[in-house]
Amino acid sequence: MKFNNLGLLPSLLKAINEKGYDKPSPIQEKAIPVILRGKDVLASAQTGTGKTAGFTLPMLQLLTKSSNSQNRKIKALILTPTRELAAQIYENVKEYSAHIDLISTVIFGGVNQNPQVSKIKRGVDILIATPGRLLDLENQRALSLSNVEILVLDEADRMLDMGFQRDINKIMNLLPKKRQNLLFSATFSKEIKSLAKGILNDPVLIETSKENTTVEAIIQYVYKVDKNQKSNLIIQLIKEENWTQALVFTRTKHGANNLCKKMIKANISAAAIHGNKSQGARTKALAGFKNGVVKILVATDIAARGLDIPLLPHVVNFELPNISEDYVHRIGRTGRAGAKGEAISLVCNDEKQYLRDIEKLIGLNIPSKTKIGFEPNKNPSSEPIPNKQKRSDFSRKKGGDRNRNQRRR
Ligand code: ADP
Ligand code: MG
Repeated sequence: MKFNNLGLLPSLLKAINEKGYDKPSPIQEKAIPVILRGKDVLASAQTGTGKTAGFTLPMLQLLTKSSNSQNRKIKALILTPTRELAAQIYENVKEYSAHIDLISTVIFGGVNQNPQVSKIKRGVDILIATPGRLLDLENQRALSLSNVEILVLDEADRMLDMGFQRDINKIMNLLPKKRQNLLFSATFSKEIKSLAKGILNDPVLIETSKENTTVEAIIQYVYKVDKNQKSNLIIQLIKEENWTQALVFTRTKHGANNLCKKMIKANISAAAIHGNKSQGARTKALAGFKNGVVKILVATDIAARGLDIPLLPHVVNFELPNISEDYVHRIGRTGRAGAKGEAISLVCNDEKQYLRDIEKLIGLNIPSKTKIGFEPNKNPSSEPIPNKQKRSDFSRKKGGDRNRNQRRR
């Protein structure tokens, strides 16, 4: 399948060509024709599979028919959970619309609203927004959503995880009843299905297979190590193996800060990115990582979700996620664009159950090794092995556990 066969305008094909895309990804191949027909879509595909172009390209094409360059109104709204993601989608939309007369802009919190408001006043066709700032500006009557024809909810599962359900409901009430809705998510959870039910109208379901080549191109292994030796181990691996760049996941913001400090102390250029950092600090960390000045980016799941950081040779789970699906999202950051990557997990005694859950989900036993000098203590008196009772408690209360954990991040 070629992009030429999807019924896209020459001006869009030109932009795709300039991006250097050879052929559409599976999700693009499926979603583009359906969206062009004006249908609502509920789509799920893993991180890094090209969802952004999947909804942006047909959206741009549909908007060329209704936009008016003399009097621009917000005709498309793209909602996304984080500021970084909003900024990234905005960059993509600008690139894909390079040869089309449509204007887009992005709004998010944490920065001065005035430049955002004046850009909207000058007239935009496409608005990319995080829920909070959008509602804020709408309340101030700095923007109107009454002409929206296309709504995109990107990373919808993460929006729900981050507690945006109520904001989403409020935003829905500000939109015209008749519109096209596109919901993109990395997973098809029960919560997503119920969100979709309230928003989408007779949607076409699009799901691309879980076992995609991205995951197959990743070499995965586990280092068994004691909790208090994890930072020393990772610092040694980075130095010994001369890593160029790595994304390191921690479970908490506090843990991200701690690890980052230790790395800097060990003369490794590192930065942390998480929800407690100011917008400026997050942008700076991400820019530094993208241009290679920052070697190690330490992140929590929420902060890293959806960010497009190409060609990452290493992804490290400093702690295993307690939501197994997050493991798949995390390691999806390596082995992108056909390059081979390594996903390394540092697993201590009390994470063994998480490891078993992950292995069950991916249907694979992850090979494990130990590093000389970092062998786990054989008689860990301080780290009890979780017993059966605890485990079943965990699975019963999975929902509650997950929420608690999300709040901590
Ligand atoms: P997702 O939203 O599914 O996580 P993105 O839309 O962020 O994925 O795309 C991931 C990366 O793949 C981006 O760098 C994007 O430019 C690239 N990409 C998208 N579509 C294609 C394609 N058809 N061919 C090659 N690269 C692509
Ligand atoms: Mg995306």
